[in-house]
Amino acid sequence: MTSRFAPVHLVIGTALVLALAGCGAPLSENWSGYKHTVVPPEDGGSAPVGSANLQPSQEPGSGTAPARVAPDCSAVKCVALTFDDGPGIYTPELLKILDDYDAKATFFLIGENVAKHPQTVKDEVAAGHEIGNHTWSHKDLTKMSVSAAQRDLKKTDDAIEKAIGEKPTLVRPPFGAIPPSLKKALAVPIALWNVDTLDWKTRDTKKTINNAEQTTPGSIVLMHDIHESTIKAVPSILKDLKAQDYHFVTVTELIGHPNPGIGYGMGQYPGKK
Ligand SMILES: [Zn+2]
Repeated sequence: MTSRFAPVHLVIGTALVLALAGCGAPLSENWSGYKHTVVPPEDGGSAPVGSANLQPSQEPGSGTAPARVAPDCSAVKCVALTFDDGPGIYTPELLKILDDYDAKATFFLIGENVAKHPQTVKDEVAAGHEIGNHTWSHKDLTKMSVSAAQRDLKKTDDAIEKAIGEKPTLVRPPFGAIPPSLKKALAVPIALWNVDTLDWKTRDTKKTINNAEQTTPGSIVLMHDIHESTIKAVPSILKDLKAQDYHFVTVTELIGHPNPGIGYGMGQYPGKK
């Protein structure tokens, strides 16, 4: 069914802003050389996943994550909180906070950091969170050959598999930028976002909280668990969204049945067909 989701290649202001985020790199580094084609989030338009309000979890079967029933995001309000560039020294504290709210999230990991903090990756999976590949060292995939990019992603896949016994279920390219040929060749879906908290840029807890208020049902929210200011923002974000009846799910749960090689900036939501 991938033909339903024809890639759209647009270079528009919004897409550029999206592409500039999600890196944890200095702003000046982001702004330099940002002239390549970027992939805007596509509305994946995932099919409804059934009429029941509950459905079996889409968690990969690691055997370590506790069984749970994921909410049906076509019937209730869901949001996917995502954390990039880790794992890092603040991640264990974040895991405790997420657990306090029974919130599931998705972590897009840097291979180098997986090698440094393998136990933290195990803890993420054991807590029921989803794991995505965010490349080995956060290089721009559009500035290397497709074969080099594939080697980079595989090296990261292998590091994650070594840590947790399974491969990641998603890719999030640094800066949201990926060459179309590589995109089509991927065996997993591409997770983008539609709410950027700009936490990597502001390093300001209050601004991160305020920016997360742009969340709507089906949103994928971009944050980074390598910044202490972000970790401090998460309790308020969870509290605020929980008060609005949001369910905190993984990206795969939010989308329902994501297709390989497709970029998703949002998931399903009540009333979406
Ligand atoms: Zn990043």
